[in-house]
Amino acid sequence: MYDVVVIGAGQAGLSAAYHLRRSGLEPGEHMVVLDSSDGPGGAWRERWDSLTLGAAHGIHDLPGLPIGAPDPTEPASVAVSRYYGTYEETFGLDVVRPVRVRDVRPLEGPDGPVDVDDRGVDRGSPLVVSSDAGSWTTRTVVSATGTWTRPYWPAYPGRETFLGRQLHTHDFVSAEELRGQHVVVVGGGASAVQFLLQLAKVTTTTWATRRPPVFDDRAFDQEWGRDVERRVVERTSAGLTTLSVVGATGLPLTPVYQQGIDDGVLVSRGMFTEITPTGVVFPDGEVRADVILWATGFRPAVDHLAQLRLREPGGGIATDGVHVDRDPRVLLAGYGSGASTIGATRAGRAAALAAVARRAA
Ligand code: FAD
Repeated sequence: MYDVVVIGAGQAGLSAAYHLRRSGLEPGEHMVVLDSSDGPGGAWRERWDSLTLGAAHGIHDLPGLPIGAPDPTEPASVAVSRYYGTYEETFGLDVVRPVRVRDVRPLEGPDGPVDVDDRGVDRGSPLVVSSDAGSWTTRTVVSATGTWTRPYWPAYPGRETFLGRQLHTHDFVSAEELRGQHVVVVGGGASAVQFLLQLAKVTTTTWATRRPPVFDDRAFDQEWGRDVERRVVERTSAGLTTLSVVGATGLPLTPVYQQGIDDGVLVSRGMFTEITPTGVVFPDGEVRADVILWATGFRPAVDHLAQLRLREPGGGIATDGVHVDRDPRVLLAGYGSGASTIGATRAGRAAALAAVARRAA
């Protein structure tokens, strides 16, 4: 029986593991960190090579070991994976990988369920965390699984008939790979904007967004940060689906983005209504396409918690900070307002402190 099982070793999971260790919980004895990747880096490990440290909006330090001043031209996937690897070693976090957690459910004791709620779930017993590589019993789960493993593909009529290539942000490798083709980029977030600017150098592009993109030139200061957090928290505390980061922040109007607007690259054509075998149909006509690049975001990777029946009618999990309203044994780090590099680090710490408090109770 572990005190805590941390699922996921990205920014949030490593931050939680660090603070658990500082509180005297030893990896392998009181706690264990499980991660589905082949190596360190969390979602950053997977990002496309052209996303350099200089192009990323920001990488927040993990607690206790700053990233320092790495080369801004280095791919973020390489630099952050190296940083996280060093971090795991320095603090002896003993991450167990690759372990994909499939399921978390209450332990069935000889005397049956301890405390069954109105959804028929026993909320009183310890939890069993199961994977193909084994299972772990624990008092508390810190779920820090991010969003990267759950790319979101919206449904549009005709999508399955398209004869060209369709790919998601999750699978993007480089603009060069698409050279000479006409690419329809779907989505109004930072990834879409970064793809369009790169693609414009080697392809022709059309930008499709459901709403007109909002480029925001207000200062990205503390007041702005609090405003974003308030809007995200309003939704998660009500059990609604989470807001995407850019849905809450808007796009910063940097000089590079302004240039993209002036060049006609960062100008949305609105949203198409249908996909044909050879292109997409906008209200004012069809655009031929070789490639549709879905930069349509990600959803929280929480399928492994399905057996605990945490979802509310609004589609999300109701939370108060890292605490799940329905289940005191589960702490969500990196969900809702924790889904940014700053938020993930803070959420990891809050989850560790809450897990330690549960242990003492
Ligand atoms: P992750 O880094 O995703 O780590 C989750 C870990 O959990 C992974 O290692 C994964 O392998 C593991 N995992 C998942 N499911 C399981 C399972 N079932 N069992 C075991 N392990 C599992 N934020 C910024 O502030 N600045 C940016 O520039 C920025 N750019 C972004 C670009 C993209 C394309 C995306 C998707 C996000 C971006 N973000 C950015 C958001 C930011 O990356 C994240 O919010 C933060 O780094 C996520 O940390 P995390 O620990 O919550 O999740």
